Amino acid sequence: MKRISAWGYAMTSVDELGPRRKAEQVRIRKALDELHKDRKESLKGEEEKAVAFVKEGLCIGCDHCSIVCDDDAIELYAKPLASPVMDVDVNKKAKIIRDPCTGCRLCVLACPTDAIVMLDR
Ligand code: SF4
Ligand code: SF4
Repeated sequence: MKRISAWGYAMTSVDELGPRRKAEQVRIRKALDELHKDRKESLKGEEEKAVAFVKEGLCIGCDHCSIVCDDDAIELYAKPLASPVMDVDVNKKAKIIRDPCTGCRLCVLACPTDAIVMLDR
């Protein structure tokens, strides 16, 4: 028998929850895989011929890129904020060190603001 919530809606039972959660996991995994596939195909160049580049204006200094980079090819540097009305102690930007960058594109996939692009070497 269905349980009814305080607002009069039929509630999901524990037995129904497992299959629903499983179906949602599959749907979300599929959507993320598709998104990554599309983005990979839109990236430029072959690995050994490409190098990453950070568009400074889009970088929010979140550090995701340097965490995923296995080649120590990204460093963060301090960048003073352009606006004197905002009081932020530390404002950082990422930059790519060209020589160790292998062009693997992991940083491009990790960046939440699409600040990293691949360029021909
Ligand atoms: S492309 Fe790969 S090696 Fe180059 S900076 Fe990004 S994660 Fe590091
Ligand atoms: S992941 Fe993107 S936004 Fe975050 S620090 Fe790297 S380049 Fe900047």
